[in-house]
Amino acid sequence: RKMGLNEIRKAFLDFYAENDHYVTASYSLVPQTDKSLLLVNAGMQPLKNYFTGTETPPSSRMATCQKCMRTGDIENVGVTARHATFFEMLGNFSFGDYFKEESLKLGWRFITEILEVPEEKLWPSVYYEDDEAFDIWRDVIGVPEEKIVRLGKADNFWEIGTGPCGPCSEIYYDRGEAYGCGDPECKPGCECERYLEFWNHVFTQYNKDENGNYTELEKKNIDTGMGLERIACIMQDVDTIFEVDTIRYIRDRVIEMAGAQYGKERQTDISIRIITDHIKAVVFMVGDGIMPNNEGRGYVLRRLLRRASRHAKMLGMTKAVLTELVDAVIEAYGESYENLVARKSFIKRIVKIEEDRFQTTIDQGLNILTEYMDALKAEQKTELSGENAFKLYDTYGFPLELTMEILEEYDMTVNQVEFSQHMAAQRERARTARGDGEALGWASDAVDALPKEIQSRFNGYDFLAMEAEV
Ligand code: ATP
Ligand code: MG
Ligand code: MG
Ligand code: MG
Repeated sequence: RKMGLNEIRKAFLDFYAENDHYVTASYSLVPQTDKSLLLVNAGMQPLKNYFTGTETPPSSRMATCQKCMRTGDIENVGVTARHATFFEMLGNFSFGDYFKEESLKLGWRFITEILEVPEEKLWPSVYYEDDEAFDIWRDVIGVPEEKIVRLGKADNFWEIGTGPCGPCSEIYYDRGEAYGCGDPECKPGCECERYLEFWNHVFTQYNKDENGNYTELEKKNIDTGMGLERIACIMQDVDTIFEVDTIRYIRDRVIEMAGAQYGKERQTDISIRIITDHIKAVVFMVGDGIMPNNEGRGYVLRRLLRRASRHAKMLGMTKAVLTELVDAVIEAYGESYENLVARKSFIKRIVKIEEDRFQTTIDQGLNILTEYMDALKAEQKTELSGENAFKLYDTYGFPLELTMEILEEYDMTVNQVEFSQHMAAQRERARTARGDGEALGWASDAVDALPKEIQSRFNGYDFLAMEAEV
């Protein structure tokens, strides 16, 4: 059955409501209770206090469609078929109510009876020691045992530090050999695009103590997460999440505005998908009251905007295109997220200011590049040094591809080996300076490296926010 993304969201929430779940709207992307977290990254996040027992849930069964952000996945965006920075997670939750069997049975019914996904395409995975889950899949649900894959801790055990934790069971969809890596042993868990992970059922049944001991919890919980874009990708039988109806709508606007062709050149396609993804994330973030800033989630927002802007440049787009793309996002998502419609002009204003200011930086870079080229011409040389190309990248946020493209127009080239050496050295510096893993996701992002003087020009939003709230 071909179902739209909005239709699938509704079907999911209706199904769980019929099965006695208390359904509530998505919580904000800004964590309200967990101050250690920058942005909500899973459906269970806003419900954490119900899991730990510090707060009492409105019902022992809940279901939500939660707005999520995973900036750690940014390098995958536009490259894999399945990763976005912003996505929606459908989830059903049990706080000491039902457990494994009920969760898997309900989930299976939803997928095979409501969505009518053919059973033979589905492959469950379990934590390798979790015989209980394995038996449920085989004996209760009736999946042939050769299709139940046992995976290790990295994939199928959920824990963060100490506290409630447990094994999980994920459901994969077999997209067919055409998507595979060709390995006859290829199975769910393989890095290739054949088996698409779309639903994770987490069984929080243990408590992990300081000494690393696991004890059974008295009240066992269920926390599941299904990527809405991924299940829509399956239902609509399309290659990537960027071809899903609502996302495609934005993507098509990008293509149209860039006057680009999709499906011809890999790098162009990646840029189109990155712009599509990032502008969507930006709209939802500003919609939830996040403002561009030089730290915290405001900085995440700023980097997404500039990265999108940089890719727009690479596609040859010259105007403030991101501002216009805000409309496309709201046209596709406003029906489901009314706050976006209500804040539309505010969102556009923020994006416009940020985009214009970044444009100025890029223009300054263009002037510098012109000077470099004049100098080369005077010396009758045609190769720009890697050092100067890196300076443009590092100080003015100029991607190498853009520099190369401009040089090419004048039959000039760049010393790429030397450029890479500078890049590698800078990455190393950034790694030592930051000392955290999350930042790695941004390592290749030019704007990361903008000097403080330039960064500070992007300040001064507070008065604007107040103005807009009036
Ligand atoms: P993957 O292995 O594909 O990166 P994951 O194992 O990190 O996914 P989970 O933490 O299990 O993902 O999250 C639950 C579900 O949320 C996934 O099964 C998937 O459907 C969805 N999801 C996770 N990350 C993303 C993302 N970056 N973009 C879109 N959907 C996602
Ligand atoms: Mg992941
Ligand atoms: Mg996974
Ligand atoms: Mg997973």
